Amino acid sequence: MAYSISTYLVKKWDLGELFPGFDSPELQEAFDNVEEQVASFEGVRGKLTPDVDSETFLDVVRASEETARVLNRVYAFAGLSFAADTQDQNAQSLMGRVQQFVAEIQNRTLFFNLWWKDLDDANAQRLMGTSGDYRYYLEEIRHFKPHTLSEAEEKVVNLKDVTGSNALVNLYDAMTNRYVFKLEVNGKVKELTRAELQPYIQGSDPDLRAKAYQELYRVYGEDGLVLGQMYQTRARDWYNENITMRKFSSPMAVRNLANDVPDEAVNVLMDVTKKNSKIFQRYFKLKARHIGMERLRRYDIYAPVAKSDKAFEFGDAARMVLESFSAFEPRVGELAQRVLDEDHLDSEVRKGKQGGAFCASINPENTPYVLMNFTARARDVATLAHELGHAIHAMLASHHSTFTFHSSLPLAETASTFGEMILTEKLLAEETDEAVRRDILFKQMDDAFATILRQIYFAMFERDAHDMIQKNASIDELSAAYMENLKEQFGDSVELSDDFKWEWVSIPHIYHTPFYVYAYAFGQLLVFSLYQQYKAEGESFKPKYIKILSAGGSEAPEKILSDAGIDIRSAKFWQGGFDVLSRMVDELEKL
Ligand SMILES: [Zn+2]
Repeated sequence: MAYSISTYLVKKWDLGELFPGFDSPELQEAFDNVEEQVASFEGVRGKLTPDVDSETFLDVVRASEETARVLNRVYAFAGLSFAADTQDQNAQSLMGRVQQFVAEIQNRTLFFNLWWKDLDDANAQRLMGTSGDYRYYLEEIRHFKPHTLSEAEEKVVNLKDVTGSNALVNLYDAMTNRYVFKLEVNGKVKELTRAELQPYIQGSDPDLRAKAYQELYRVYGEDGLVLGQMYQTRARDWYNENITMRKFSSPMAVRNLANDVPDEAVNVLMDVTKKNSKIFQRYFKLKARHIGMERLRRYDIYAPVAKSDKAFEFGDAARMVLESFSAFEPRVGELAQRVLDEDHLDSEVRKGKQGGAFCASINPENTPYVLMNFTARARDVATLAHELGHAIHAMLASHHSTFTFHSSLPLAETASTFGEMILTEKLLAEETDEAVRRDILFKQMDDAFATILRQIYFAMFERDAHDMIQKNASIDELSAAYMENLKEQFGDSVELSDDFKWEWVSIPHIYHTPFYVYAYAFGQLLVFSLYQQYKAEGESFKPKYIKILSAGGSEAPEKILSDAGIDIRSAKFWQGGFDVLSRMVDELEKL
């Protein structure tokens, strides 16, 4: 496919397809619609008996999908409007209204979920057998059956969470989000937020890098005893609820079940990663040479190697991404192009617009919406490929229901990361400037470290910390365990300083969503392995890959992948991803 250069311009997205506006009758109708639907849904309560016939049962599931569909659309309109302008009062109040509305709807429809989990196996199998695309969604709800408490207990847990562990996490956020970091830059002391401190942490000045890190952990360390206590409480709450009451086998097993990934696969992933920490240690030694240091300090691991400040026009960026996708598979390129052609991409940088980037897939029938802030850097081109990859994933799965088209967490980064890989390959093939090529390769390794090794070591720390806290470990003991974790991660490749003993209290994920982090490593390694298969198999790989994406969230990740010949319980599979990384380091050594 040929694209004329600069066909596409930086612009704002058009949300008109969702609702014409905040005051539109369509929006009010949507709320009224859900009201009516839920009222009639409540009426089926009496029909839910173990011997309910499959048609009646399916009608109930379809009705709840219909409600979810309308709610998704309203929720998306509110959320996307807010992201496009966080100062927009209309968007803010609609967000508040929707959140309250959804919570009420959830309470009123909770009975279905509880009834379904409580139903005997024989009847559940009978009903799932005729539920078509809803089967996996229904099956997943039932996975939690052995860990479900009585309705009264569940209600108490819900209520207590609002003022207990949720409140604790909110307080953690409230405290840490108002931190101010002081950094002397060019003789002037600047007061910075954590996001504003980040460029210095990843900047080219070694002195500023060290100072920025020292300031980061000085501030967190000052509150270390309070933040540490919050973590201890979070871990105890996790244990009390999930182990003592819900009878999970381990703190991490809770997350594994939510991800629907077997404990065994996660353990193998973690073990293989640990065995391959040497690849990154080799990389850090190499990187030290490239930035003219004897040995990297922990402060230097994200330091830029060369300074290529090549700027990209948005039209060129879009062309490169679409061309690389189309070269891989024309259909993939066409789907990505639809996001741009339908004005579902907000690429413009505006005051008040949310930072970063995301892709929102709302319902199977909606072309996903993508938000990013295009500032003409090479990084932005990669982000465009990444987010359009997410959009393609959802679009390929659009034949599934609203409940099953979304891929589950461990597979959620497949198409996005793969899209970046395809783009990178094109950039490397076309780039003649050695400095730019080197930058691309180093950036890839930095990212791989941050998403794989670092996240798995976080998960290992979480595993140890939850266990230690159960045995009454003090905050100092947890900090010491964290330093041990870092020593093992970096070996002799990086010089560690004592400041990093407070790093663990600065990681929001381990407070918010315990054991979330390993999913990043899962996704990234999966893509490296898939990419390696693509290189080896060429054309015959493509249908297999498209099939993985098309499955969306309609099956367990293990099933989707085993259909593609991948065994996530096998060490050999995960090792394949590390072999790709090892070869990348080889290539860098040759430069
Ligand atoms: Zn992503």
